Amino acid sequence: MRVLVTGGAGFIGSSLVDRLLAEGHDVVALDDLSTGTLDNLSDARARRRFSFVRGDITDGGLPDVVTAAAPDVVFHLAARTGPRASIRDPVEDARRNVLGTVNLLEAARASGARKVVFASSGGAIYGNAARQPVSERVGADPLSPYGAAKISGEIYLGMYRKLYGVRTATLALGNVYGPRQEPDDDTGVVATFCAAMARREPTTIFGDGTNARDFVFVDDVVDAFVRAAEKPCDGRRFNVGSGIATSVRQLHALVAELACRADEPRFADGRLGEWHGVALDVSSARHGLGWEPFTPLREGVSRTLAWVSRSAGG
Ligand code: NAD
Repeated sequence: MRVLVTGGAGFIGSSLVDRLLAEGHDVVALDDLSTGTLDNLSDARARRRFSFVRGDITDGGLPDVVTAAAPDVVFHLAARTGPRASIRDPVEDARRNVLGTVNLLEAARASGARKVVFASSGGAIYGNAARQPVSERVGADPLSPYGAAKISGEIYLGMYRKLYGVRTATLALGNVYGPRQEPDDDTGVVATFCAAMARREPTTIFGDGTNARDFVFVDDVVDAFVRAAEKPCDGRRFNVGSGIATSVRQLHALVAELACRADEPRFADGRLGEWHGVALDVSSARHGLGWEPFTPLREGVSRTLAWVSRSAGG
């Protein structure tokens, strides 16, 4: 099949591109390279069935780009990622993550694409849900503009499905980690700890470290995207996580152990936009997509540390 991956030069998008190419699909990656890099696509760019378009999903010329790509399936991952960035600048968040998604859906519809698979955020849309793990039946209660934008994207997807018959699926991702993730202060805590420990630099935990996340390895997430393209899905949202809540303090201890470093983080004040966190109930993905998380946290963190050392030349 022919596929378009928006955000294809990013952390998750480029891993999805590699998997789709390995399965023999024709792949076009679209990315404005605002956080993604061509380095992430160095393997893909050596392949015959791959092409890269530098472009912005908010651009008026997007329909021409998507029509030229003629995809059967669009994987929509381009976004400005992370709650705290969105709290700092909610208008820019909405421009990329709401208007960009509407522009992409319109372009996909006009191109005749059969299906759109959308990357939403299980961490950001459910808020501090009382019952854990959180199932898709729990109402959305976002605590950031980023979460609100993801819910908005899901609503637009549903509307395009009803109005135009575009098939859709949404994956509400946990806290995704693995090779190619950039260390940042928003979503990339695993990458941040791994990079700091590899460089023997100090690490900081914001708050008391009890905030928990549902950490899920990137290969597992990519597998869910591929399945969501193949299965009927009926416009549903599927949680994609490990199903396990791990506190930031526990994560720190694990990374320190695997990196053979002291487990001695500094503690700093908690930040606006922090939430207690969720574990995602993944039974819908198990039944609807035949998907299970398959990489244990210990193995995923080891693989991430190995990648960080390799890319630092260590
Ligand atoms: P990423 O920043 O590595 O990838 C996003 C990509 O989108 C980047 O390559 C960036 O350059 C590109 N991009 C941003 N704005 C664009 C625009 N206007 N036009 C074209 N390209 C643009 O982040 P990621 O972690 O790979 O996230 C991929 C998707 O998964 C995002 O939609 C994100 O919201 C979602 N998600 C990620 C996580 C996580 O833990 N990483 C969790 C939940 C959801």
